[in-house]
Amino acid sequence: MDPIDQIKLKETRQVLELVKHQKDMLGESLVSLDLFLYLHKSISLLHLDDIKPVLLEKLPHILAIRYFSLFLYNPSQMELTLASSNHLNMEKPLSFSVSESGVMQDALNQKRYIFESDFTTSKYFKGRRNPLFRNNFFLCVPLMIENKIIGVINVNDSEKGFLSVSDMDYILNVLEFVALSVSNALLHEKTEMLSITDGLTQLYDHRQMMHILGKEFDRCKRYQSPLSLLMMDIDNFKSINDTYGHQKGDEVLVALATVMNRLCRSNDTAARYGGEEFAVVLPETDKQGAKVIAERIRQGMAKVSFNSGNSHEFGVTVSGGIAELNLSTMSSVSDLIQAADRALYQAKERGRDRVVLGG
Ligand code: GH3
Ligand code: MG
Ligand code: MG
Repeated sequence: MDPIDQIKLKETRQVLELVKHQKDMLGESLVSLDLFLYLHKSISLLHLDDIKPVLLEKLPHILAIRYFSLFLYNPSQMELTLASSNHLNMEKPLSFSVSESGVMQDALNQKRYIFESDFTTSKYFKGRRNPLFRNNFFLCVPLMIENKIIGVINVNDSEKGFLSVSDMDYILNVLEFVALSVSNALLHEKTEMLSITDGLTQLYDHRQMMHILGKEFDRCKRYQSPLSLLMMDIDNFKSINDTYGHQKGDEVLVALATVMNRLCRSNDTAARYGGEEFAVVLPETDKQGAKVIAERIRQGMAKVSFNSGNSHEFGVTVSGGIAELNLSTMSSVSDLIQAADRALYQAKERGRDRVVLGG
């Protein structure tokens, strides 16, 4: 072959190589795009509890990494809470102060990602080796929406063992989208919560309490399990308003809500029934059990002292009425409410500051 043909052949081979390389890259990009669209579809959900399993199942595959952890950021407490992670040794619930994690603290303060090609030799490594890690790269990305931090995602380790610039670009783009989905879900949950809680006390409102009581009533009927209802009412509340002002009255309402939240068990539901009347739905609880909780609240509230504004302290008492669901005499939720109301009325009649068990 003459030298000119040889040069032409070489050039043609080079062009072919280049085309092949570009075709491979295009193929990879299409696969990435496909995965990204797949994540887009499956993660656009309104509740964080629905998003978490999707992340667990798909994120490592989509990002081509081994491990990830998603923390939500609480700015008022400066705390991070683990929301989702595929690290086997991370136990939920896990909350800690931002200052406890150097790398996440830096990412949050600087509002930019931190990348370490070998975490174990970085300034962040505290010498606690984890056998699950291959000890290669570590990427910590703050999740931000319009400059507001909502959380952090950490990713580390991959089959390849390193992150290229385009890998990193891709990961950052995907995580930006994760941030958007998480932020939407948080906002949706907050709006949902606002629509079912009372603005002053933050307890569930009357409508939500009726909804929960209805569900518990049905469950109780199906499984024959006990269910009690406690109604509580602040004693002489009108005179508190008249003597110390409406604002002080509001303070008393908030204080009772706080005491109730503190002293109820996790399965109990405290609600503001209306005005200065509160209710607690107590599933799996007979009236003796409900009395223990009611007494705790009554006594807890008696210990709270309020400042009248002119260096005088005053206290408040509450009365309670309890009814336990009896399916042979009560056919609806309103029968149970009426029974608890009657017991509360008796508590008032007998001198207030007490709890009465309904028949
Ligand atoms: P009893 O011991 O019999 O329960 O007497 P009481 O004064 O507590 O009951 P009454 O029903 O006569 O008065 C309830 C008062 O609660 C009247 C109402 O103005 C006041 N109230 C209702 N909702 C609120 C509120 O959101 N804030 C304040 N400050 N007062 C409220
Ligand atoms: Mg009252
Ligand atoms: Mg009342």
